[in-house]
Amino acid sequence: MTFNEKAMSVREIASKTIMSKSNLPIGDYSVNPYVGCIHACKYCYASFMNRFSRHNEPWGSYLDVKNWPKISPRKYDDNELVIGTVTDPYNPFEEKFKRTQRLLTELRGTTAKITIITKSDLVLRDLDIIKTFSNIRIAFSINTLDEHFKNDMDSAVSIERRLNAMKVFHDNSIRTICFISPIFPKITNVQEIMNAVLNQCNAIWLENLNLRGEYKARILEYIEKRYPQLVPLYDEIYRKNQNRYWVDLSVELEEFCKHKNLLYVVDNDKLIRPFSDSPIVVNFFYHSQIKQSAKKRNI
Ligand code: SF4
Repeated sequence: MTFNEKAMSVREIASKTIMSKSNLPIGDYSVNPYVGCIHACKYCYASFMNRFSRHNEPWGSYLDVKNWPKISPRKYDDNELVIGTVTDPYNPFEEKFKRTQRLLTELRGTTAKITIITKSDLVLRDLDIIKTFSNIRIAFSINTLDEHFKNDMDSAVSIERRLNAMKVFHDNSIRTICFISPIFPKITNVQEIMNAVLNQCNAIWLENLNLRGEYKARILEYIEKRYPQLVPLYDEIYRKNQNRYWVDLSVELEEFCKHKNLLYVVDNDKLIRPFSDSPIVVNFFYHSQIKQSAKKRNI
């Protein structure tokens, strides 16, 4: 997929606030300086935003650039802010509109814990501002090392560029996360990605592919076309709702972490360890269901 700027519908809108109370396991507030996301990932769960933003255009073809009243940074002290939950704050239009840069500038002085989630190396532009925060981390979403598969799935920058950006932040003593999401069964090679980032991140988050939205048909059609040998497995997981694959993968990854001496935890993003420690691996798979299945199988 390639990014075609001229085909995009881009407009500025007024927004009362960009800080939304959130029930995410990793934050108190979701912070999104844009509506829409032109990375247009085929599996994007945020595409449900179309309903709320009253856009008829396909997800990935529009971007609303928010204008908001100035933020009081101290108001968010001791909270957790996650920037980029339903958009990429460093989408290519950020270069022109600089809304995320403005957001960070306004937040200067807060003691909030800030997580920025991105698929772009444009975040490097703001390295100097980011360095001024006492509690900030940058999460790079990477679910493959295969640039062909990446190109089939999104129009963000290459995996190589994301890995390079992650390294620059880590070399500058900024905490980084490799967000392995979404894990595509038998396509995402989790161990290979983990091996590639072990020395340049502080945490590795694991999230499975979840097909609940209107994109389910699109992804299953893609699998049928490009990976026909995986159709029975995807049917088992996404049509028959079987969790066996995720249970087995969890066990396998836990073993891998033991072997690599990596701390492996489930659903817990609260542990803080020294910067120089090896990354902590956090499994965010569907736990309640996995735990039940694992119990039944005595795992
Ligand atoms: S980068 Fe994130 S928000 Fe943007 S399209 Fe991809 S998954 Fe959706």
